[in-house]
Amino acid sequence: MSTVKLINPSTEEALRSVEMLSLEQTDEAIALAAKAAPSWRAVTPADRARLLRRFSEVVDSHLEELAQLEVANAGHTIGNARWEAGNVRDVLAYYAGAPERHSGRQIPVAGGVDLTFYEPLGVVGLIVPWNFPMPIAGWGLGPALAAGNTVVLKPAELTPLTAMRLAELALEAGIPEHVFQVLVGDGPTVGYRFVTHEAVRKVCFTGSNEVGRKIMAGCAQQVKRVTLELGGKSANIVFADADLEKAAALAPYAVFDNAGQDCCARSRILVEEKAYDEFMELFEVAVKGVKVLDPSHEESEMGPLITGAQRERVASYVNDDDVIFRGNAPEGRGYWYPPTVLATPDRSSRAFTEEIFGPVVSVARFHDESDALAIANDSQYGLSGSIWTRDVGKALRVARGLETGAISVNSNSSVRYATPFGGFKQSGIGRELGPDALLGFSEEKNVFLSTEE
Ligand code: NAD
Repeated sequence: MSTVKLINPSTEEALRSVEMLSLEQTDEAIALAAKAAPSWRAVTPADRARLLRRFSEVVDSHLEELAQLEVANAGHTIGNARWEAGNVRDVLAYYAGAPERHSGRQIPVAGGVDLTFYEPLGVVGLIVPWNFPMPIAGWGLGPALAAGNTVVLKPAELTPLTAMRLAELALEAGIPEHVFQVLVGDGPTVGYRFVTHEAVRKVCFTGSNEVGRKIMAGCAQQVKRVTLELGGKSANIVFADADLEKAAALAPYAVFDNAGQDCCARSRILVEEKAYDEFMELFEVAVKGVKVLDPSHEESEMGPLITGAQRERVASYVNDDDVIFRGNAPEGRGYWYPPTVLATPDRSSRAFTEEIFGPVVSVARFHDESDALAIANDSQYGLSGSIWTRDVGKALRVARGLETGAISVNSNSSVRYATPFGGFKQSGIGRELGPDALLGFSEEKNVFLSTEE
C-alpha cells in the first residue's frame, strides 16, 4: 500500500499521510458505484432533491472545518477557503432544485406522441486538480448527482483532505453508500482507470492540457463522454476611458488570488497606450499593498505556492531584467513567491504565452480596440478575461470578439454557480455550472408512442 505525505505549504511541515488506492481497489470502488447506480436513479426526484439539500446543509454546518483543512493542506487564505466551502454548499443547494425540473419534451409528430427523457449516464468519474479542490469537486458533484448518476472522484495527490471530508459529510446527510466515493490515488493509476473502465460512462477532468489531451485520447477508445477544463492565459484589457483607479486597484487580485494558481488568472494585462503610465502608477501601489501573509491570518490576501517544485517552475519564467516591480512575501519557511510584474519586450516569450500558474503578470500596451483583440486572442487558450471601459458599445464589441468562455466587464469575477463556465480553444471542451449543467450528465432519450388503432 503506498501513501502520500501531505505537507503544509506555508510551514513546510508534515500534515499527515494518506493511503493511495491500488488499481484493484479502484476497480472495486467503481464496481460498487455501478452497483449503486440503479437504486440511486430510482430515488424519486423529490427525494433526490431533499438529499442534496440536506448535503448542502451539512456542508454549511462544517464550513469552518472544511476551510481550515484547505488552509492547512493547500495554503489557501482563510477568506478564500471559506468562500470555497461556501461554494460547495451553494452549488449543492442550487442543483438540489434540478431533479424536479429536469424534464424532457413532448414534440408534435404525426401518428402518435413523442416524448423525450433525460436518463442518467451511470457512473461519472471526476478528476480534480490541487488548485481549487473544493469548488471543482462541487461543480461536478452537484449536477452529476442531481441527474441521477453515481460519482467516483479522484482528488489531486497533494490535496485530498477536503474531498475525503465531503464524502463523509455526504453519508452523514443520508446520501446512500457508494453513490459518492472519493478515491485517493495517483493520476495514471486511479484517474486513468476512469478513462479505461467501461462502467465509467463519463470523465470530467480539470487540470493541465498535457494530461487533458491524454484523457481525451483515451476516452475516444470507448467514445466516452468527456468534459475538459484546462489551462488559461487570460487577458485583462484596460481601455483609457475606464475607471482606471478601480481597474488598477482590482487587477492584482485578478491574477494573484490563490497565488496565481488559478486557471482564470488574468495573467496578461493589456493597457491602452495613452493610459499606460497612469495605470501603472496606480497598479504599483495596489500590487505593493497585497497582503501576502500566513494564510490562516484573517487579513491574508495571498498565501504560498503549493510546493517547492511549483515555486521553481514559476521562477523559471521570470527574467530579472523584465521585472518592473514586485510586491512583498514572507521570508523563511513556506513556498512563498512575491507578486511579480513583468514588462513584455517580446510577445512571443514564454512568460507572455504560457500558463505560469503563479503570482506573475505580464503587462503590454495596445493602440486601439482591434489591436487589443488581436493580442488577447493570440493564445492557444481562451478561458476568461476582463474588459474595463465606460463605453458600453465597445465593451460588448470586445466581449463578442474575444475567443474566450467567461468574460467580465468592469469586474474580474468569472465564476458564479448559476452561470455557465468553460473554455474556448485549448482551455477545454464542454461547460460546467449554470442552468444547463445537468445536460452534460444525462443522455437524451426519444420515445415515440403510436396512437394508431
Ligand atoms: P494535472 O493535470 O497534473 O492533474 C490534474 C488531476 O489529474 C490530478 O488529480 C492528477 O492526479 C490527475 N492526473 C494526472 N495524470 C493523470 C493521468 N495520466 N490520468 C488521469 N488522471 C491524471 O494538473 P494540476 O497540476 O493538478 O492542475 C493545474 C492545472 O489545472 C492548470 O493547468 C490549470 O489551469 C488547470 N485548471 C483548470 C481549471 C478550469 O476550470 N479550466 C480549473 C482549475 C485548474
